[in-house]
Amino acid sequence: MPALFSARMGPEWWLAVRNLVYPAFCRQCRVQLLTEENGYFCPACWTASPRIERPYCSCCGQPHQEMRGFGSLANYPCATCREHPNAQIDRIYGAARYEVAIAEAVKLMKFHGKQRLALPLAEVMAEFAESEMAWDAYDALVPVPLHRVRQRERGFNQSALLAEALGGLLRGAPVDHSLERIRPTRTQSRLSREERLANVRGAFAVCGDTLQGKRVLLIDDVVTTAGTVTECARVLKYAGATSVDVFAVALSAPHTRWV
Ligand SMILES: [Zn+2]
Ligand SMILES: [Zn+2]
Repeated sequence: MPALFSARMGPEWWLAVRNLVYPAFCRQCRVQLLTEENGYFCPACWTASPRIERPYCSCCGQPHQEMRGFGSLANYPCATCREHPNAQIDRIYGAARYEVAIAEAVKLMKFHGKQRLALPLAEVMAEFAESEMAWDAYDALVPVPLHRVRQRERGFNQSALLAEALGGLLRGAPVDHSLERIRPTRTQSRLSREERLANVRGAFAVCGDTLQGKRVLLIDDVVTTAGTVTECARVLKYAGATSVDVFAVALSAPHTRWV
């Protein structure tokens, strides 16, 4: 459809025509989408996708299962984090659970190239950050990097897209790309603990010295076992970062121990 039409007809008309010619349907419930806010999910499915709310663990960010619904309680460490504290990461924050619409959106972005979803996902993160995080406590947003071969295949790094979008929504720390994945790794979720540690060991490096003395917020799409982000944090601290927190769109199911 020529751009001329949209310019003459105004956005509402253009949207109405587009809805007729190219109808779009919610990926979750299949209802037809009539607005352009989020081209893949209806507002009902998007808002119903569970966010992480208080109380959640003040170390790993997982909601306290037994305390669901007690929204006003302060955050405190979960039993796993008390027993096995993470030596590299001070805090992990996740904005949502890795479920329904948000999980689907992450997969569409990551595996089906729907880069437009970075913005609505970053908005979910920004909403969480505004109520739960001290945003000015960070000097740099560092995306978890992909290996260059993977990045070339995919065409983009989803964590970098999220970091850039988030940086645009919440003014503050700039995005820093000096963390690199220097060795390809296998998907962590299907490996045993020992395999996970070996898989990411030596996979990352920091180039340059821009992160020296900086308080880093590491940005990831989904944190599952925390093995990858823990290894990134170790390398970032070795390169001079004074602290490393992690912020992900979503946290997958609770783990039994760190890494
Ligand atoms: Zn829907
Ligand atoms: Zn925890």
